[in-house]
Amino acid sequence: MFEFTYRALPWNIVFGVDALGQLPAELDGLDLGRALVLTTPNQADVGRRTRDLLGTRSVGLFDRAMMHVPAETVDGAMRVAGESGADCTVSVGGGSTTGLGKMLALNLDLPNVAIPTTYAGSEMTNIWGTTVDGRKRTGRDDRVVPTLTLYDPVLTLGLPAKVAGPSGLNAMAQAVANLTSGALNPMVADMALAAVRALTESLPNVVKDGDDLSARTQALYGACLAGGAIGTGTTSLHHRLCHTFGGAFRTPHAETHTVLLPHCVAYNAASTTEGTCRLAQAMQVDDPAVGLYELAKQVNAPRALKDIGVLEADLDRAAAIATETPVDNPEPVSRERVRKLLHNAFHGLAPALIR
Ligand code: NAD
Repeated sequence: MFEFTYRALPWNIVFGVDALGQLPAELDGLDLGRALVLTTPNQADVGRRTRDLLGTRSVGLFDRAMMHVPAETVDGAMRVAGESGADCTVSVGGGSTTGLGKMLALNLDLPNVAIPTTYAGSEMTNIWGTTVDGRKRTGRDDRVVPTLTLYDPVLTLGLPAKVAGPSGLNAMAQAVANLTSGALNPMVADMALAAVRALTESLPNVVKDGDDLSARTQALYGACLAGGAIGTGTTSLHHRLCHTFGGAFRTPHAETHTVLLPHCVAYNAASTTEGTCRLAQAMQVDDPAVGLYELAKQVNAPRALKDIGVLEADLDRAAAIATETPVDNPEPVSRERVRKLLHNAFHGLAPALIR
């Protein structure tokens, strides 16, 4: 019998080349007119451009968003939002900037407009995250879903290949997690499979030619779908491990996903045969764990934890942190098995079944 339940999120999307130009009219339509623009120091120029585009609809720019959304950064942005009398935030940047907007939505009830410039996919989820005392805290709350997401592929043209490759594989992880984390929800799985196809096809071209607007458009759409899949779907061991490394060891987010994903797919393969098989078909490979490992190589993304700042001495502690509370995962999770997985990921070995 074919039965399922599905609860969508309140997505409101404008997608297209030069969509940024629609921001003032969109804000007027939402009756918002005192926007605090958020971005990272690296993207201060696009932050200023967005602020200038908004003219009197903007009350300022906060350009100190940081990876993993440290609690101190959230406090700083909340202070500026309060002092400037902002009635909304506009996050222009990657997942770190979207994440900061989400924390202000959660803590201050400020509507957030997301303008993603990477493939993190956070704008499609109700997942918030912040780092407090070296531990990443996450939760789900529909109030953090952006009031509007404006996707403009032109803004991703500046994304360097070395950021774009891992970022695309971070999106891939959102989709793959929803094919290899247990029972398949048909609507989530269809969204995830469409994301996998779009990302598999576009990412090599995104990295090969920074001016390939068609590939960047396809990758951004893939990221949107992948975010939608995880936003209405689930996470498992893979995300637990990524949060462990990001929170406790401050590893770069997208690169951590890139390195761990093939190993987590291999770990769960025996318990997720239908999803693994459909993933293989979407990627047009025999073994999707190996396919993801090879794709990372093709886009020049890191494949070893030792190459992204992890020390071998960290692995025991990482395995302990990751397993200190139960993980919702199709394959049983134990500290010993996770430690074996981390050994392979640390050395950049090909993904293998862990017993
Ligand atoms: P990021 O936002 O930190 O961006 C990485 C770097 O790339 C930054 O220096 C940024 O300024 C720069 N950058 C971004 N777009 C650019 C562009 N178009 N051109 C040039 N430079 C650009 O990294 P990320 O990987 O996008 O996001 C990571 C963060 O997002 C983490 O904190 C992670 O936890 C969070 N995240 C959350 C969710 C969720 O659902 N809540 C999902 C994915 C990621």
